[in-house]
Amino acid sequence: MFIGDGGDGIAGADVHVVKDRITYVGPTEAAPPVPESTVTIDANNGTILPGLVEAHFHPTYFNVAALEDLDIKYPVEYVTLLAAANCKLALECGYTAARSGGSLFNIDVWLKKAINEDVVMGPRLAANGREICGVGGLMDWNPDFRKIGMEGLVLLINGPEEARAAVRKLVKDGVEWVKTYPTGDAAAPDANDHHTLCMTFEEMHAVVETAHNHNLKVTGHCRATEGIKNALLAGYDSLEHGTFMDRETMDLLLERDVPVVPALYFEKASIDNGPAFNMPQAVIDGHQETLDGGAESARWILREGGRIGLGGDYGFAWNPHGDYAKELSFFVDFVGFSVPEVIKCATQTGAEIMGLADEIGTLEVGKLADILVLNADVTQDISAIEDRANITAVMQGGIIKAGTMLTTAS
Ligand SMILES: [Zn+2]
Repeated sequence: MFIGDGGDGIAGADVHVVKDRITYVGPTEAAPPVPESTVTIDANNGTILPGLVEAHFHPTYFNVAALEDLDIKYPVEYVTLLAAANCKLALECGYTAARSGGSLFNIDVWLKKAINEDVVMGPRLAANGREICGVGGLMDWNPDFRKIGMEGLVLLINGPEEARAAVRKLVKDGVEWVKTYPTGDAAAPDANDHHTLCMTFEEMHAVVETAHNHNLKVTGHCRATEGIKNALLAGYDSLEHGTFMDRETMDLLLERDVPVVPALYFEKASIDNGPAFNMPQAVIDGHQETLDGGAESARWILREGGRIGLGGDYGFAWNPHGDYAKELSFFVDFVGFSVPEVIKCATQTGAEIMGLADEIGTLEVGKLADILVLNADVTQDISAIEDRANITAVMQGGIIKAGTMLTTAS
């Protein structure tokens, strides 16, 4: 059993749950007696750990093969249905909570309500909204002659006044997180590559000031070193990617204890599967540079005592929903994190990013019973966590919502 705090696994351990809360965590031999009617789940020499937290989840992205697929392929009605299906899938994969990394239309806010009210199954959701990007930046790809707006996907801004106006729209939408695009990405090698800035510091600062005033948190797609530095100086609450770090940005990051969600497996999937999707070589080369830089930064952040959350931009054609736990194996096998470290990143740190560290993220008495039971020992092979056939039970708030113990019983 892993507590989720970075400690080694405990052999021969029990966790007890009464209603929606954890009442005992510890060695089996020290466990108090339980009533005869208690339902017992046997991990069968496998693994018990806190429910996983997807810290960069896009419920509304589905099978995106080209940027246009994001905002003009389907109407809002169908995207909403797809997003609900993605949430159910994430829960079945062991993800009992998720922080969105940006949403089409205002779907996240309503998904969250539907999940909370048991209308649809899914992770406890921290809702994001339409993303904010500077005009001409990474997310502003529809040429003007097409006369197609980007209103379902991004709020495009010029200057701090428009940045404030965009955040105010999101305040009215009811989001918890504001997602911004301080930098470009390997996906746009011509005008908005991963070393390009897509927002000014003044715009970013205006976003933070307005968002914090209304109790919203701010995150951003930050690859270029200057963009990371701007985000930290502007007061961002988390960084997505944090790809190219230097000593100065590292010091700022540590001083402010800002968590970073690298979302690195996406880069590997893009490199491996890009040719099959006719991805230009310049884009693949950019993803390689991003992967190398991102892995280096992630190792460095962890070594320096910084916080890493795990989540992965799943929802692209070459990096589909359902593959979320590949992020964990990848961080062990490729980036070099230990199994207890990677579990902490995917549980406790995720809960901290969501602002729910007092309620979820670790197995502790009094916390909500969000628990994953695997019929496999992840210390032997972390990739066992990727296979839903190994998931005996996904418990959310004390209720078994998914897992083989349900499917074989029905
Ligand atoms: Zn994303």
